[in-house]
Amino acid sequence: MSERVKVAFYWCASCGGCEEAVVDLAEKILDVINLVDIVFWPVAMDFKLEDVERMPDNSITVSFINGGIRLSEHEKVVKLLRQKSKLVVAFGACSSWGGIPGLANLYTREEILERAYLTTPTTHNPDKIIPGSKTEVEIDNTKIEVPVFLASLKPLDEVIDVDYYIPGCPPTPNVTWKALETLLSGNLPSKGSVLGASDRSLCDECPLNKTKPENVLIKEFKRIVNFNPEPNKCLLVQGLPCLGPVTRGGCGALCVNANMPCTGCFGPLSDVRDYGGKAISYLASILDLDNEEDIKRELSKIIDATGLVYKYYLPKSALKGKVGGSKS
Ligand code: SF4
Ligand code: SF4
Ligand code: SF4
Repeated sequence: MSERVKVAFYWCASCGGCEEAVVDLAEKILDVINLVDIVFWPVAMDFKLEDVERMPDNSITVSFINGGIRLSEHEKVVKLLRQKSKLVVAFGACSSWGGIPGLANLYTREEILERAYLTTPTTHNPDKIIPGSKTEVEIDNTKIEVPVFLASLKPLDEVIDVDYYIPGCPPTPNVTWKALETLLSGNLPSKGSVLGASDRSLCDECPLNKTKPENVLIKEFKRIVNFNPEPNKCLLVQGLPCLGPVTRGGCGALCVNANMPCTGCFGPLSDVRDYGGKAISYLASILDLDNEEDIKRELSKIIDATGLVYKYYLPKSALKGKVGGSKS
């Protein structure tokens, strides 16, 4: 990629953290701006969709798309960006595997709308209006099309072809920068590669790894809300379900450095097909208990097993969730 590259950023079902992650490049953002032309970035610059529609096909060098696909509008825009882009990168956990908003796939669309618009304790909705039944409205003679809330959230690669993935919730500045350097170098890795992160597990770069024995065995699981871990000692060895052993490295063990167990936002290593399946089988394998009652008691201490092992991965998993496999 020797000529000045054209770059687009777009967000789908996203918390905004991945957009912040681009700004988190700090002074390096100036290097980025010197190297690229940003041709579409709705959160920061006043480009319209029509501007993209007018661009020739394949004229955008690379589109970075964060967030999962939850609205008909997301489907429409990412399909357009695919048509106009040479490369598409899934940026962050939500885009790559569904992420935290993907946990909503444990519920049907109707259950989600009912909860959000009728039954939350802070809701005041005496007319019981639930959006989504009408997708075209007319206000002051102007027709407005309201996006449809789809039946489930999908990772980006279930809607369009994706060339590369950048993991993290959000991707850390060093990972984003390394990924950008790879893309700008023109020396592109094979399609489907994960950019910017490590090919080894998080434990490999964790400063507490030296206190973790090769075969970890624990008698009980603890919860970080009511347990203050000793510093400088592997959190897993202390009973906290740290997912570092099954998570891709690259973040520099950010959470562990803050005395919090890894929750897996860099996703699986390349040879793992289902992150949550791998995580739960690893946790089960380190429980040093023989008695069935003891095992049941310890497993019951994991309050939200799905949320623990599939926090970022449910829509991409074999389970997919209650509605993950349904068509919208
Ligand atoms: S990956 Fe994390 S930071 Fe990025 S949009 Fe999703 S929830 Fe937000
Ligand atoms: S604290 Fe977590 S990431 Fe660090 S060595 Fe232990 S299990 Fe691995
Ligand atoms: S420690 Fe785990 S959860 Fe925290 S940023 Fe790194 S990969 Fe993500």
